[in-house]
Amino acid sequence: MTRPSKKTPRAPEKPSREEAERAVRTLIRWIGDDPDREGLTGTPSRVVRAYEDWFSGYRDDPVEFLRRTFYEVDGYDELIVLRDIGFESHCEHHMAPIIGKVHVGYLPDRKVVGISKLARVVETFARRMQVQESLTAQIAHCIQDVLKPRGVGVVVEGVHQCMTTRGIRKHGVSMITSQLLGHFRSDPRTRAEFLNMIGRPIAA
Ligand SMILES: [Zn+2]
Repeated sequence: MTRPSKKTPRAPEKPSREEAERAVRTLIRWIGDDPDREGLTGTPSRVVRAYEDWFSGYRDDPVEFLRRTFYEVDGYDELIVLRDIGFESHCEHHMAPIIGKVHVGYLPDRKVVGISKLARVVETFARRMQVQESLTAQIAHCIQDVLKPRGVGVVVEGVHQCMTTRGIRKHGVSMITSQLLGHFRSDPRTRAEFLNMIGRPIAA
C-alpha cells in the first residue's frame, strides 16, 4: 500500500484570477445560461472567491503547525478523543461537496496538542480535493508522524453529494471510513474503548 502523501500538493503553475473567472463563465455557458445577464455578472468572481475558501487547505501544511504547537504532559497516558468534528470537503472525482464528521483519538506518549489544532488538521486536509479514504489516512498519519503517540484512530462519516444529488441519487447514505494505527490496531481493548467513546460501539 502506498503511504499517503503528507506534503501539500502543488499545482505546476497557478492560473490568474481572471483565467479562473473566465473558466466559470465558460461553465455558465456550458450549462445553458448567459453569463452576461444581470443576475450572473458578479457570479464568476464570487465563485472564484468561494473556491479560495473551500480549497484553502492547499495553503497550509498541517505537519508544520502540529510540530510547532504540541506540549508535553507528565503522567497522562489514557485515550484523548475528539468527536464530531464537522468538516466540508470536495470529492476529487466531481468536485461535489462531501459533508460530515470526523472522530479522532490518540493514546499520547507525553506529547499532546490542543483541541483546536486537531480540528485544524482535519480542516486543512478536508479543504482540498479528496477521496474519503485518503482524507482519513492523511489525518491519522499526520498525527502519528508528528506527535508519535502510541496509537491513533480516525473515523470519518461523510455524505457525498455526488452520490446523493446526481447519478444513483441515494439519499441518506453516508460512507464510513477508519484508519487505526499502533495500539488502536493491535489492541482490541483500545479499539473498543475508542469506538465506544465516539458512540460506535462494536456489537458484543
Ligand atoms: Zn464524487
